[in-house]
Amino acid sequence: MTMKLQDTRLLAARLSEVKTYGHFINGEWTEGHSGETIELSNPATRQTLAYIQSGDAVDVDRAVNAAHHAFPRWSKSSPAQRQTILRVIADRLRARQLDYAMMETLNNGKTITEAFTHDITGAIGLFEYYAGAAFQLHGQVADFADSTMLIHREPIGVVAQIIPWNFPLLMAAWKLGPALTTGCTVVLKVAEETPLSALRLAELCQEAGLPNGVLNLLTGFGEPCGAPLAAHAMVDKVAFTGSTEVGKLIVKAASNDLKKVTLELGGKSPNIILDDADMDLAIPGAANAIFFNHGQCCCAGSRLFVQEKKYDQVVEGVTQFAKNIRLGPGLDSRTQMGPLVSQTQLERVSGYLRSGEEQGAKALCGGKRHGENGYFVEPTVLVDTSPDMKVYREEIFGPVVTAIPFKSVDDDLLTRANDTTYGLAAGIYTRDMARAHRIANRLRAGTVWINCYNIFDAALPFGGYKQSGWGREMGHNALDNYLETKSICASI
Ligand code: ADP
Repeated sequence: MTMKLQDTRLLAARLSEVKTYGHFINGEWTEGHSGETIELSNPATRQTLAYIQSGDAVDVDRAVNAAHHAFPRWSKSSPAQRQTILRVIADRLRARQLDYAMMETLNNGKTITEAFTHDITGAIGLFEYYAGAAFQLHGQVADFADSTMLIHREPIGVVAQIIPWNFPLLMAAWKLGPALTTGCTVVLKVAEETPLSALRLAELCQEAGLPNGVLNLLTGFGEPCGAPLAAHAMVDKVAFTGSTEVGKLIVKAASNDLKKVTLELGGKSPNIILDDADMDLAIPGAANAIFFNHGQCCCAGSRLFVQEKKYDQVVEGVTQFAKNIRLGPGLDSRTQMGPLVSQTQLERVSGYLRSGEEQGAKALCGGKRHGENGYFVEPTVLVDTSPDMKVYREEIFGPVVTAIPFKSVDDDLLTRANDTTYGLAAGIYTRDMARAHRIANRLRAGTVWINCYNIFDAALPFGGYKQSGWGREMGHNALDNYLETKSICASI
């Protein structure tokens, strides 16, 4: 990353102006119907950053109508037009990468390095990938006797997309890329905690040539704004990323008129280290699997299974790694871990730490809040846990890993690794590739990383088994989420 300290100070000063943002509907900034606003604050300092509209059902209706009216033209736009616009979006994001990284850091708390190199780089890659996909939406032709059969792919219509706060711009890109390239129109409801980068993205998309009404962005809380969006009669499809609990509400809301639904939900992912693993890779790998983005990842490697012979070495290594992590504000270039996103999240993670302690788990490091101002939590390694503990079973969504020893790679290990209601991701560290693949084949998870963790690519589908979700995002698969199939049969 080429970034000077002066640059970040200058940008921070520019962003320190406290603005009130509207919804972005039909290409215009629009005040919310309720007149109520939500205050955003920097999670490292709790200073006010900006105000956003607290959206309601009337705002939802306006935004959905705009998307509905924009659909006929956009759905018939040429692949070349869609490709060009998506490419320009990627180019403009790259030109302002530092601004966007800064917004993520100020609003979400993550470090500027992580925001720049992971989040914004990932978002750019997504738009580039789906720019290319605009020309890959081929239908098919089938011949049978005296009929000619055509199989068309058509955009599904108006899409409601609801996203969380852990990767604000990246989650918006995961959703928008496939929707826009297939010719759908969108109402995007961003998380109430972290809307800033996506709000700026909406404006950037307009500058890049996206016609008004194709992307509409709403801000607001889940119940008053997200729920009516998921239930709106003119919405054809809902794509949601967030908690499993809310995912179930989305399914109910969308069920009235049987909208198509895709869900990317929670996880409690096993990361398995075998005794033949390269420890120089496995130990930092296991630490990053959980501490990346402060553990606020649905695919975090939160259950660390280590083969007995190497258990002490790995647990000691990960504990040392955790103790060495420098906590601080994300804008400070020395910081390695920022604050959690919000007071709510701090309380939730602290609650899990208390429950672990009460149920007899032992923290080898961390286990408590750091400082008093921002929402910092110390990276924590728990041992002596058992399957009946909440910290063992439930998604904590914080920098807390549970280390679990196992004897041999057998049915028992696989049963324990799969013993979760989730199935989003898993990791395996070993030098024996054949063994790694045999384990990978038996893990009930949408992504299995071998000798790595948290590697994402626009071309690689991502999503979950079991209660981790429905469908896959990214890759070519994601296009299917936004396309209908029409068979035309002509007698000749
Ligand atoms: P988290 O617990 O990590 O904040 P949530 O699942 O609560 O995750 O939130 C993810 C997104 O879902 C946010 O944009 C939030 O506003 C939205 N949301 C929350 N509740 C509902 C709901 N009942 N209907 C629709 N959207 C909701």
